[in-house]
Amino acid sequence: MSEFANLLDLYKHAPLLELGALADAKRRELHPDGIVTYIVDRNINYTNVCVADCGFCAFYRRPKDGEGYTLSYEQIGVKIEETKELGGVQILIQGGHNPYIPFEWYLELIKYIKRHHPIHIHGFSPSEVDFWATLYRMDARDVIRELVKAGLDSIPGGGGEILVQRVRDLVAPKKAGANRWLEIMEMAHLEGLRTSSTMMFGIGETPEERLEHLLRLRDVQSRTGGFTAFICWPLQPENTPTLSHMPKTDAVEYLRTTAFARLVLDNIPNIQASWVTMGMKVGQIALSYGCNDFGSLMIEENVVSAANTTYSTTTDEMERLIRNAGFTPRRRRQNYQLIASPTAA
Ligand code: SF4
Repeated sequence: MSEFANLLDLYKHAPLLELGALADAKRRELHPDGIVTYIVDRNINYTNVCVADCGFCAFYRRPKDGEGYTLSYEQIGVKIEETKELGGVQILIQGGHNPYIPFEWYLELIKYIKRHHPIHIHGFSPSEVDFWATLYRMDARDVIRELVKAGLDSIPGGGGEILVQRVRDLVAPKKAGANRWLEIMEMAHLEGLRTSSTMMFGIGETPEERLEHLLRLRDVQSRTGGFTAFICWPLQPENTPTLSHMPKTDAVEYLRTTAFARLVLDNIPNIQASWVTMGMKVGQIALSYGCNDFGSLMIEENVVSAANTTYSTTTDEMERLIRNAGFTPRRRRQNYQLIASPTAA
């Protein structure tokens, strides 16, 4: 059998506990110290105005909608200061595809943050980079270079969903295509940026397409080594424009998928548990299904909460949950460098 057929067979037919044990063994091999990391950061969605109309998105508003917003630099600055007061070490800044914002606004925003509220800026997904390249008639590589020159530190894996064009044509036809998303990630890696990678599943894809998604990420990683981490989560169908009829993914399917990802993505060092969508208990279990990172203590999460799925926690709670799951909690930076935390110092 081909590697594809072997892996697919494992994903579809292996008992859950077997898949979990294999993923756990892989996690131990890569992270033998029993440490589970997490980061304190804040998700800042600078605008909810968007013309991409993704069928799974409960967050965006069309231009001219009365509920559309774009934050001012000062509002973003206040959010960063609040983040720092809570021990935050980065912001994750992303937004809709807003056709009314000039490119200089982003460059000046990054410079403003670095000048007045210095913090690691993990921002602007490949879909945003692609949108700007088209809107401002620029080469995507130049968009990335300008962002880096202004002070961008790393790029999040947002907008990846399922990196198979058939699926993207169904749910996000106006957004960067599968090849383009991967191309922009590869460009960013070649420009020296580190990025994360994602998979949002349960949007109408087949198991074969999930595997294809993972293999395409692995392929880029084998050339660049630029992905620091992978996280997958299932669609939250509530309040979405066109996918509210989709069944909600249960914990078993989530655990199968995250464990499977740990096995396929053997060249991506870190796998994050998605407690934001799955809840704390499943998040804890995921630590025995291949995950070595508990993601972020997100101070703000607009996109998931717009679909009525909000779990919030505190650093104490985060560390307690990790410890109760049998691991040693440590705070980290975006690049997975460990930093002192009150209980681990
Ligand atoms: S997921 Fe992002 S690109 Fe798609 S509609 Fe929502 S805000 Fe726009």
